[in-house]
Amino acid sequence: MHYKNNYYLSKRRNKKKKSTASKLILTALACTFFAISSYAFFSTTTPSVENNNLPLSIADIPSALDTPEKSVTTNIPVAKIKAHSLQSLSTIWQKHEIKSGESLSLIFSKNGLNRSDLHKIIHANDIGSQFAAITPGKTLLIGQNISGNLSHLVYQINLSKELKATRLDDGNFKVELIIKEIETHIASASGTIESSLFWAGKEAGLSDKLVMQLANIFAWDIDFALNLRAGDQFSLLYEKHFIDGKFLNTGEILAAEFINDGHSIKAVRYQDPAGKISYYTPTGESMRKAFLRTPIDFARISSHFNLRRKHPVLNKIRAHKGVDYAARTGTPIKSTGDGKIIFRGKKGGYGNVVIIKHGQRYSTLYAHLSKFKRGQRTGTRLNQGDIIGYVGKSGLATGPHLHYEFRVNGVHRNPLTVKLPNATPIKKKYIADFIEKASLLFVQLAEISPSQLATTQL
Ligand SMILES: [Zn+2]
Repeated sequence: MHYKNNYYLSKRRNKKKKSTASKLILTALACTFFAISSYAFFSTTTPSVENNNLPLSIADIPSALDTPEKSVTTNIPVAKIKAHSLQSLSTIWQKHEIKSGESLSLIFSKNGLNRSDLHKIIHANDIGSQFAAITPGKTLLIGQNISGNLSHLVYQINLSKELKATRLDDGNFKVELIIKEIETHIASASGTIESSLFWAGKEAGLSDKLVMQLANIFAWDIDFALNLRAGDQFSLLYEKHFIDGKFLNTGEILAAEFINDGHSIKAVRYQDPAGKISYYTPTGESMRKAFLRTPIDFARISSHFNLRRKHPVLNKIRAHKGVDYAARTGTPIKSTGDGKIIFRGKKGGYGNVVIIKHGQRYSTLYAHLSKFKRGQRTGTRLNQGDIIGYVGKSGLATGPHLHYEFRVNGVHRNPLTVKLPNATPIKKKYIADFIEKASLLFVQLAEISPSQLATTQL
């Protein structure tokens, strides 16, 4: 089991949008938020802070316990923290989880707040009205001064964005959208598979989501259900996002290597100048094939391609020129490649059928559908993976299943064994740009690559 986790470089996204004038207030507020979120931490390990001249001191936080309960008619759990504002007035903070059906005016009346303040906030400027778009499940922070008047209202739109209203001296409010800086670091991990990819991923510190992303990149080359071997190895570079130094989430996998049964496969993520993003081999070939091997997920094959099969309904020898997948009625069916619908309707024993043409040489057919995907028709252009309809048993069928056919130059081929063409490689005009960017990532990947380690140990 190899495990490494390094940070190589960071790049900056989302520039701060804070005016200098409001910086002090923001700093004070930020400290208060920090205090609210870390109250549990400080309650067990209270730091001794001697400098009481700070505009807002964490030494005040334990005293929040002594803050008299403010009478508010709400049964929502609230976190209350007493803190100094710049004017040395106390602000009492409440955290309000927005419930389904709650409007801002309802929240104001539940908390005994002045409705004219709400009006002032909504009409403060052109972003004030965004307060009207609050959604359930998110959080409002309500700050009141000792006389119970609203001093701050903060709506946390998401982890990096908040809408904030601050009462000014003249009684009006200033409303601003605060965008926190997200820092992206490149992290790396590597592991060796003993029982499953998920376990090895967990041991390497990867989330399930990241392991799925990794499996998807190599899905065309490795059948993770059948072809994994104990001792297979992987290594990857991926993005980690942070706000205020705190881990937020993981982003994209930038480069990865998988060693399956001693055979190394490498992939790198690349966005071309026209905006197309995909994973490619080190030479710029697509990691994807032009076709998915199967049009439905997690389905059992109930009948194989067989040119001398006895038909289950007709009970006589009739070639089975496709593959049947048993699945529940309503299971979504995906177009296996980019293409254009050339037939959509009823066709004898096939029942409801969709036929898709993929370029000049290929076509695919999907039969016995219960329903077609809404909004599509003959002539509709599709991307690989687009849903075209749902499993059913229309036409001659003993039970719900999908009958899938794959034709090359008009000839039926076994969809499970036919050699699938590669998806489009990187355009020639972008190759130089690709090589330059990809080689940087491959150099970093090589530093943690199991194959590299194996070579150097020889
Ligand atoms: Zn069939």
